Amino acid sequence: MGVIKVPLPPQDTNVFQAAWGYITTILKGLFVTKMILVKQLFKLEKTETIEWPEEPADYGPRFKGKHFLTKRDDGNVRCTACFLCATACPADCIYIEAGEHKSKTIEKYPVRFEIDILRCVFCGFCEEACPVDAIRLGPEYIMLPADGTKWVYTKEYLVARTNLNGGIQSIKDEEEKHPEVTSLTHESKHHRSLVKHGKH
Ligand code: SF4
Ligand code: SF4
Repeated sequence: MGVIKVPLPPQDTNVFQAAWGYITTILKGLFVTKMILVKQLFKLEKTETIEWPEEPADYGPRFKGKHFLTKRDDGNVRCTACFLCATACPADCIYIEAGEHKSKTIEKYPVRFEIDILRCVFCGFCEEACPVDAIRLGPEYIMLPADGTKWVYTKEYLVARTNLNGGIQSIKDEEEKHPEVTSLTHESKHHRSLVKHGKH
């Protein structure tokens, strides 16, 4: 295959022509910027800038903000100290200390559960990894140190800080958490049972 020769772009014939092109392009750019400024100053055009913190930011429902730990019906923390969130965390910022639970029906609970929020990258992997809806990333976007000074959020802070109004209950069954997936699972269970009993 032969070599394709690409011609050079057209050159300015002299230095005055080049300078003219340069200056007019800058002036056009400044004019566009100035027009936007004037329109937004006189409210002729909507600006996306918000005057935070006086004006609250409006994020979408899928926004992943500050973490919280959910509670069971009896008010205890839902977490079973399985370490799946800590294992999935790419920033290695979750620290858990597991303890044996008094109840025979619950194997373990977190004696300590801490998140070093300054290392967190808000990826949501912990929420995804949790099998019991014990940890979620909520809509709070203002990151403050717990108790005014601590950037390591403790279990107590994650379960019952003021904004959580006494704590959030976990979603108990899979149907509420993943309705589409659960209905599919039910269908396939029904299908399997029909096959097993020779009715399909
Ligand atoms: S959001 Fe990501 S980085 Fe932050 S604690 Fe969860 S897994 Fe770790
Ligand atoms: S928050 Fe969920 S994933 Fe993390 S240790 Fe507790 S139960 Fe396991």
